[in-house]
Amino acid sequence: MTSARLQAITFDLDDTLWDNHGVMERTETGHYAWLDAALADWLERRGEAPAVRFAERFPLGAYQARRLELARRHPLRRGDFSWLRERALAALLEAYGLPRSAACQWAAQAMQRFMALRHEVSPHPEVEPMLEALGKRYRLASITNGNVDIRRLALHRHFPVAIAAGEMFAPKPDPRPFLAALARLDTVPSRALHVGDSWLEDALPARRLGMQVAWIAAADSGLPTGIHRLAHVRELPTLIEWLERR
Ligand SMILES: [Mg+2]
Repeated sequence: MTSARLQAITFDLDDTLWDNHGVMERTETGHYAWLDAALADWLERRGEAPAVRFAERFPLGAYQARRLELARRHPLRRGDFSWLRERALAALLEAYGLPRSAACQWAAQAMQRFMALRHEVSPHPEVEPMLEALGKRYRLASITNGNVDIRRLALHRHFPVAIAAGEMFAPKPDPRPFLAALARLDTVPSRALHVGDSWLEDALPARRLGMQVAWIAAADSGLPTGIHRLAHVRELPTLIEWLERR
């Protein structure tokens, strides 16, 4: 077992630093409902309102199906959820009868609404002071497959390096976002710890690279060496102390 001191800690965001479940539900339904209402209003004022409203013709399920289909046709974009959403919205709006330019504009506006809702996240209360303390001793990075732009969050100040893995066309479990983060933090996997909630996208790929792993999960079952399960991110400082004392 290596006793090289830790230099860096990389963090997944969604469901690691905050509970994302309610956020995604509100965001998903919220921006679509906003688009339906704003579009109906706009068409009404122009005297062009069709008999059937947009979300009646294309319910949320149709939008989701269109995104899956786009992801299948563009495998490199499969992690770029914002791109998939905007393209799917524009296609549905065109199919609804809007000229292409109007369809693209409405899709872009709906995505602005989506992003505003998407950033209404509440980090666990322990996270801010924990990052503040860790940032003094370690180099910190965030690595997310999601489309949260950490620059829009107050937590941003703790992360000199922020990797949007979906946008670099190499979503986790691809090793490249991890390697990019470590290179930019000027360290190597054996001197870094990754913290995340997904077994497949966080724990496994980070461990394969030789990083220590703090896996945030509800159940424990015979973990391989180097993967440490935490029930909550608030337990991280204790794990780090333990890793440092070995
Ligand atoms: Mg996560």
